[in-house]
Amino acid sequence: MCEPPGEPTSRRTMLGAMTASAAAVALPLLGTEPAAAATNTGSAPSGTGLSVTLLGTNGGPPPLATRYGISSALTVNGRTYVIDCGRGAVTQYLRAGLSMPSLAGIFLTHLHADHIVDYYSFPLLAAGASGAQGFQNPIEVYGPGSAGIASTVTGASGPVPGTVEMTRLAGQAYAASPTFFMAEHAGIDPATLLHVHDVLPPSGAGASATNSAPTMAPFTVMENDDMKVTAVLVPHGAVFPAYAYRFDTDHGSVVFSGDTAPTPNIITLAAHADVLVHEALYPAGLATLGLPQALIDHITSTHTDVAQLGRIAAESDVGTLVATHFGPGQQTVVPDATWRRLLRDSARRAGFGGRMVLGADLLRLPVQRRGSRRS
Ligand SMILES: [Zn+2]
Ligand SMILES: [Zn+2]
Repeated sequence: MCEPPGEPTSRRTMLGAMTASAAAVALPLLGTEPAAAATNTGSAPSGTGLSVTLLGTNGGPPPLATRYGISSALTVNGRTYVIDCGRGAVTQYLRAGLSMPSLAGIFLTHLHADHIVDYYSFPLLAAGASGAQGFQNPIEVYGPGSAGIASTVTGASGPVPGTVEMTRLAGQAYAASPTFFMAEHAGIDPATLLHVHDVLPPSGAGASATNSAPTMAPFTVMENDDMKVTAVLVPHGAVFPAYAYRFDTDHGSVVFSGDTAPTPNIITLAAHADVLVHEALYPAGLATLGLPQALIDHITSTHTDVAQLGRIAAESDVGTLVATHFGPGQQTVVPDATWRRLLRDSARRAGFGGRMVLGADLLRLPVQRRGSRRS
């Protein structure tokens, strides 16, 4: 935290920030950065530089009226990459001021419903659109390959699909719409809008469905003019593979944890990054929802307690930690003030000297390389 040692909570900071910019959302800020550094005004990011926009911040599949599903956008040099496509991702993408033609890629951390439910909405809707409502070029999609384990849903045979096969099957499942549109000379095959890649862990990592996240060095997923993307496997219960992604650009570096229990792999991947966007679980809040104890135990063992985030930020030496994927996501159960206190306490205990940001739907965070920030 940037406050002087011994200073009580950041009330002084918060008041200062709120005075500085009424339009900006000061509430998510816990440090002493100017409020203008994070907004949720919905204005489009600029065509240069790097920014993160949280499209949705809810953790878990049950839909909420007050938070959209987990999804984030990274905009670099005017092109946008969406990381996970939870419920409402397309809606929030547009509400954030992002345009369909600027979409350059989608990265899926893992194939849980809350991270993929709106994935195919992007190509399916774009295939019925044209011009500014559609894609300018085919987009690159990266997501987990098959776990290799047998599917147990009704009527299934063979292993669960990875991202390539899931996309192919979605194209088949929704074939009627583009077929009708094409018959009317008004549509295209959504498959032509996508280049889909299965991300597979390097064979040397020794990973498998029963050893899903061995300690490993980051590996390269892709590289283009905008960025280099690396990944590590993360532990997330039965899910395999589950990834955290790191995006290194000329303007700074951003890491997305995806869903993960605490793991040294995140510390390695996020080392010295400018921004770490990390999931946050508050077990005591979960306990008030009346869930079966077995489900509570499962959730707490496959996610990261918010109390750990200060330590993770300190050990990885990131500049800013942004909390998202809130569990539980209901503000009536865990108000923002409580999340803010939990993050602050966590940072203090760990001696984290950077900035903690409480995520919120449509929060935009410009990213600058540490040391190059104006102050
Ligand atoms: Zn999730
Ligand atoms: Zn998950």
